[in-house]
Amino acid sequence: MSGRPELLILDFDGTFTDVDAEAVPFLRTYREGLAELLDASIDEVWPRAVEEVQRHPDAHGFEFDGKIVAPSHADPYILATSVAHLVLAERDALGLAGELEGLFRRAYATSDTVFRPDAGEVLDALLGLGIPVRVVSNSHTDSVIAKLGKLRPDAVERAPVTGNARKFHLVEPSPPDARFDAVPDHVQVDGLDRPLYLRRGRYYERLRELWTELGVEPAQTLVAGDIFELDLALPATLGARVHLVGRDRTPRWERDACAGMGGTFSTRLSGVLDAIG
Ligand SMILES: [Mg+2]
Repeated sequence: MSGRPELLILDFDGTFTDVDAEAVPFLRTYREGLAELLDASIDEVWPRAVEEVQRHPDAHGFEFDGKIVAPSHADPYILATSVAHLVLAERDALGLAGELEGLFRRAYATSDTVFRPDAGEVLDALLGLGIPVRVVSNSHTDSVIAKLGKLRPDAVERAPVTGNARKFHLVEPSPPDARFDAVPDHVQVDGLDRPLYLRRGRYYERLRELWTELGVEPAQTLVAGDIFELDLALPATLGARVHLVGRDRTPRWERDACAGMGGTFSTRLSGVLDAIG
């Protein structure tokens, strides 16, 4: 795509916020809750499990139907979930895995709101471009609206939020359509030892709603997010321009995969303004 996009679709958590800082109270609560669940200290086993996940980052991650659909290093929430499964396995307590979702929700509620340093000024600049801006997030809609309102009170009106986007659901969209039919099951990416799955039908439904509502094609859209696999791989496959708002620790394969699909990368959020041109 050349020229200015006609629609901006933005992820929120991790893209506008500093997830590592936000997750500090979450991690404390989650670890304490896991120890309570096991009725034992996990002070020794937790750091060992963290090391194990970090040593083989591609072998762990957020799973859907037994397939890894987001990398373990993507954010502290996915890392904690991967680590918790290893801790349960080591303690022969995988029968408790069903309890992790409730524990996750309780701990997530304690997370802080910490914006990236340039979040406010970049949001102002994006909203000033005269291009429709939409936020599409996996998080609960209310939680994203609350954070967006803290950043800029009028942004909630100007950048409508779609939450619960389920970007990790590998299912067919309803109804099916020819554009999604052409999306391959997965791609192999240099430097990643597992398939990167593309057919994320729930996320597609949310994208298609916006394209239909605004009369815009994928090729006229720019999507920005902080996790290539979750936020960008599908829209890039559909022809959208993508920008990865990463971190210093964003791995090589993720940067290369993004570039390989014509996308751009920056560690600062303001890089998205350069991507728009
Ligand atoms: Mg994100």
